[in-house]
Amino acid sequence: MDAFRQIPSVEHLLTHALTGELIESYGREWTTNAIRDVLTECRQELREGQTLPPDEALLIRAKALLRAQAALFPVQVINATGVILHTNLGRAPLSAAAISAVRAAAGYSNLEYELSAGKRGTRNAQAESQLTRLTGAEAALVVNNNAGAVLLALSALARRKKVAVARSQLIEIGGGFRIPDVLRESGAHLLEVGTTNRVHLSDYQLALEQGAQLFLLAHHSNFRIIGFTSEPTLKELGGLAASAGVPLLYDQGSGAISDTAQFGLPHQTTVQEALQTGADLVFFSGDKLLGGPQAGIITGKKVLVDKLRKHALYRALRPDKLCLAALSATLLHHLKGEALSCVPVHRMLAREESSLREQALGWQRQLGIGLVIPGKSTIGGGSLPEETLPTWLFALETRAPQKLLSRLRACRPALIARIEDQRVVFDPRTILPDEETLMLAGIRTALGQDKESE
Ligand SMILES: *Cc1c(COP(=O)(O)O)cnc(C)c1O
Repeated sequence: MDAFRQIPSVEHLLTHALTGELIESYGREWTTNAIRDVLTECRQELREGQTLPPDEALLIRAKALLRAQAALFPVQVINATGVILHTNLGRAPLSAAAISAVRAAAGYSNLEYELSAGKRGTRNAQAESQLTRLTGAEAALVVNNNAGAVLLALSALARRKKVAVARSQLIEIGGGFRIPDVLRESGAHLLEVGTTNRVHLSDYQLALEQGAQLFLLAHHSNFRIIGFTSEPTLKELGGLAASAGVPLLYDQGSGAISDTAQFGLPHQTTVQEALQTGADLVFFSGDKLLGGPQAGIITGKKVLVDKLRKHALYRALRPDKLCLAALSATLLHHLKGEALSCVPVHRMLAREESSLREQALGWQRQLGIGLVIPGKSTIGGGSLPEETLPTWLFALETRAPQKLLSRLRACRPALIARIEDQRVVFDPRTILPDEETLMLAGIRTALGQDKESE
């Protein structure tokens, strides 16, 4: 029990020479609390039979704790994984113009103020005008994310109503967002249609006979059903819904507004096509193929969008000024037809194999190490499941690939690469132009440490 008596007091550690700089950086109260936390840990360690570290070691621990608590979050990382819409890495990187727009709107802004008239305005007006122009929809509304868009629409339109959903579309998006749960939360009754692999138009007809008052379609954004499968087309369902007078809501998800075939990917129903072929409302994310900030975008019939706008939940789900600033800058790129050169996600999708190979060879030359091998980039982010694009990878042979990955992650900015066939590989497709130098410096540092430890 003697060891416990030797534990220094908080007051004693506060007078230690090392503590001055901590107090200067973090303030006396925060520093005191950190020291207290370290001492609590220490007591636990003594109980477990460990020895008491010297005062300096305790203060170094307090410093590490304070540094971790004071870290900004989230911070920049370099995405060398080749996964374009990496949900863990914040999905779409913003364009330079979108980043400037966020900066410009960060102070006071005309978020809800009409400058010409000098009176109250609406935060949604500009995004709505740009979205309707872009998609041909009658009306549009922006909320915090696409999950919120679906929740708002069902809450406003489907409460106490029977909603027909195909069994093949009773999906979980991830993060616990499940269509049946959202339906329940919004007070709607789920009417399951067809089977897991095959759903026919006649199944929807049956649903109408059973009292369906709304059709909800969800895009297979993160999985694929293969083999003996079928689903009616949007056009067929649109026709049926229109003749029965029930709204058809389509969770399109990815936000494809141009033909994905231009990137060598399968064609995906675009927002415009969905609206033209019979969807009354189409929902999608702002930070997937649109290449903008996190947002949920609702486009479609004015009568329906107006109901959503008036619903109490809209107030809880509305987007903030930073989101709207980034969104309108991103929409502007699409409207001006400059997405391929300005929106990072589109630029990455459009990269030529030859230029990717050239870039990887450049890294090999500059670092004087590694191989350049063919590989695959993935789209990711719940948009085109399983779809890949051919790429060229810069590959490093190492005996301990996991260790190298962890050293790369310890760089600032952190470098996120991946392992393929025991090699650590870097995909040029997802490296932003101004990150290349930082990335090469990071690799040098990580490899240098590798040599020292051998
Ligand atoms: C991604 C996705 C969602 C969720 O969108 P968030 O913007 O992440 O909330 C919902 N439905 C579909 C079909 C999706 O692809």
